[in-house]
Amino acid sequence: MAGSDTIAAVATAPGRAAIGIVRVSGPLARGIAERIVREPLSPRRAVHARFSDEQGRPMDEGLALYFPAPHSYTGEDVLELQGHGGPVVLRTVLECCLRLGARLAEPGEFTRRAFLKGKLDLAQAEGVIDLIDAASEQAARSAMRSLSGEFSAQIQGLNKGLVELRALVEATLDFPEEEIDVVHRADAEARLQRVRDQLSGVLEASRQGSLLREGMHVVLAGQPNVGKSSLLNRLAGDERAIVTDIPGTTRDTIREAIDIEGIPLHVVDTAGLRAPGDPVEAMGIDRTWAAIEAADAIVLVVDATAGETEADRAIMIRLPGRLRRIVVMNKVDLLHRDPGMTTESSSEVRVWLSAKTGEGMDLLRRALLDVAGWRGTTEGVFLARARHLEALRRAQAHLERAGDELDRAELLAEELRLGHEAIASILGEFTADDLLGEIFSRFCIGK
Ligand code: GDP
Repeated sequence: MAGSDTIAAVATAPGRAAIGIVRVSGPLARGIAERIVREPLSPRRAVHARFSDEQGRPMDEGLALYFPAPHSYTGEDVLELQGHGGPVVLRTVLECCLRLGARLAEPGEFTRRAFLKGKLDLAQAEGVIDLIDAASEQAARSAMRSLSGEFSAQIQGLNKGLVELRALVEATLDFPEEEIDVVHRADAEARLQRVRDQLSGVLEASRQGSLLREGMHVVLAGQPNVGKSSLLNRLAGDERAIVTDIPGTTRDTIREAIDIEGIPLHVVDTAGLRAPGDPVEAMGIDRTWAAIEAADAIVLVVDATAGETEADRAIMIRLPGRLRRIVVMNKVDLLHRDPGMTTESSSEVRVWLSAKTGEGMDLLRRALLDVAGWRGTTEGVFLARARHLEALRRAQAHLERAGDELDRAELLAEELRLGHEAIASILGEFTADDLLGEIFSRFCIGK
């Protein structure tokens, strides 16, 4: 059973480092501390000590920290041994802890215990992993906002509004023969509207956060030699893809870490969409099409000195019509034309730029952020996960239906109950064990 045994793990990244930490949590932590450190430890005080094994042989020396329950990360007794960060020395100390009765922790098990002990709610626990995994400063700030409980506080606000509303509606269910009176109905309607407004606000902030976390997917199209690699290099900020003068030589799939204002950009290259030569290539093409289906926008690169070609139009016709298009008219330096942006229709903008000189690149970045729906600020944004968005949208749908059932208390109560359940699932109340397993297994061992 979780929490009844003692777990141990190396909490720092593998490899050589100045410092390495072995962390122990559970009822044996104190006994293990006494055997290894052999010096009196006072709660939450760093003690400089030698770490010895069961036979008294020195293994390492460093700082020992003891956090008695419940004032620790996990809420259990926790021991932290901060020694030298070498893989062998850390393994020696860890193995000693295991011989003294601890078992190796599973990925995320420390944080899972913190959740089960009520130290963190589920959204905060997810904030922990998102902070560790954050790929940009903006993502890290937003993860920190979730971790510190700002996101949870908003969800709790929604929760509270729903609890009150449900109480009001369910009270009327106790008197089935009576109609919902006018005063009650108006009160319920006003409260429902407040919760719905609040929910829209949280959903919007979460959608922005999800962009920071998941990024945007763009399909890159264009004929050979129009400057696609040059453009990606510009976006990536340095010269990483190979640019050559020979058409068709830049067929490497470019998977660079490109981000615009902290939003990761995933580029799907349509170069792979030529007629397949063999089954493996055909599979690759299927995958490319699947990626295109899930994309947010198309960037079609055109050599402005030559204009759009028949082949460009052929590709565009095959791409889903709902995708918004950014047509990049590249190489404006050769035309002696200023960079610029024109709106062609509600679904197409045209950006005149030069990937070679970099002029006009800021316009392309702006067009991309625009298509993604980015509002340009991380203020108040939460690094929401797909799970959170899905729950918020589910709640929104139930509350919308609730709005249609104001005169039928039983149906109203049921929609409110379902909406409430969706909101509560974000914080981990009534969350199934397999979902918890799924969330925590993505953590690293020792966290
Ligand atoms: P890709 O095949 O579409 O990936 O095109 P590349 O990025 O490899 O570029 C093909 C050629 O066009 C290279 O010689 C680039 O230096 C050149 N090129 C790319 N962008 C520009 C531009 O904006 N202006 C000029 N003058 N040349 C460019």
